Amino acid sequence: MIRFNFPHMVGAELEYLQDACKRGRLAGGGEYTKRCSEQLVRYLDGSSSVLLTHSCTAALEMAALLTEIQAGDEVIMPSYTFASTANAFVLRGGVPVFVDIRPDTLNIDERLIEAAITPRTRAIVAVHYAGVACEMDTILDVARRHDLRVIEDAAQALGSRYRGRKLGTLGDLAAFSFHETKNIVSGEGGALVVNNPRFAERAEIIREKGTNRSRFFRGLVDRYTWVDVGSSYLPSELVAAFLYAQLQHIDEINGLRMDIWKRYETALGGLAEEGLVSLPVVPSTCVHNAHLFYLLTRTHAERSGLLAALRGNGIGAVFHYVPLHSSDAGKRFGRTGSSMEVTDDLSNRLVRLPIYPDLTAAEFGLVCESVIRFTKAFPGGIDAEALPDGPSA
Ligand SMILES: *Cc1c(COP(=O)(O)O)cnc(C)c1O
Repeated sequence: MIRFNFPHMVGAELEYLQDACKRGRLAGGGEYTKRCSEQLVRYLDGSSSVLLTHSCTAALEMAALLTEIQAGDEVIMPSYTFASTANAFVLRGGVPVFVDIRPDTLNIDERLIEAAITPRTRAIVAVHYAGVACEMDTILDVARRHDLRVIEDAAQALGSRYRGRKLGTLGDLAAFSFHETKNIVSGEGGALVVNNPRFAERAEIIREKGTNRSRFFRGLVDRYTWVDVGSSYLPSELVAAFLYAQLQHIDEINGLRMDIWKRYETALGGLAEEGLVSLPVVPSTCVHNAHLFYLLTRTHAERSGLLAALRGNGIGAVFHYVPLHSSDAGKRFGRTGSSMEVTDDLSNRLVRLPIYPDLTAAEFGLVCESVIRFTKAFPGGIDAEALPDGPSA
């Protein structure tokens, strides 16, 4: 079986874990937590403060608390994203307002945002799908004109750039993920990037169960107490130790993924030229991190057939999100703020192929060969009635 994903080890993970054990401090906020956040601040060009969390979901929940989302407040976001993007705000009583995506990058269509703004709108969440940036100049401009906060869901986007600037440094707040399916991993893990300094002090308090424990450890107060709402969002030192090894190799890991991404683009480019599939589009303003390689089939039925054919060859190819506006919870807690035409169409036709540093050349070859063989066998498009739907991702 060729797995869809396999977390890449850089080598020093176990050594750092052992060292963390020897230090005898395993709770969050220790030496490795500090090293990780310093490393990330440096990596993000030193411009922001970075708080390690136990997941990107936790970082998004912190963002919802920091932006003081109240019951009925609206948050504009794409529907084509992971549940956590919306859930973080729904937990505060917020209402996700889903806006359609662009047909090229599958990111929120920035031209539709303004029409979705109401007097209750508080924030825009920019999800950088596949590590390719949203059109941030427009999004930041709309936000400034309407006094909205911008939160980047940069879960997939560590190492990517927009007009030369690293993703995660553009919004008031940004969230990264180190889940095992992302480029840089610690099993579960995440980080909140605080770019707007007005959120910095409160972010520490919220992460520390609503206490001013961080200020206490810096010697700024002589005891620590409960001062605000908060929760337990710190990762353990064991997670941070593992992550520290990975964070020392961000560009190298992304580079290995990029080699495979480019080889897919070359190998499958012929199919795209023949109009049989579409490949990812990366605008000239974006440098991406090769988080995903996907293709779009011409029809939903063709996607089901391709997934079945790939699985038949032992290849773990998968589709992606069931759009949130069409999910049970999305209907209950959110609403649409535009037509969902592009989201409904593309989400039905997308296939993600295995991409990770440890994918062998033989495995890569089999994936390409299987895609080409299936696609060429159906040059006129396939009969929508003839194929069963594939299982869910
Ligand atoms: C992976 C992902 C998340 C959730 O990350 P966790 O670290 O698993 O909480 C949120 N948003 C997007 C866009 C993601 O891809």
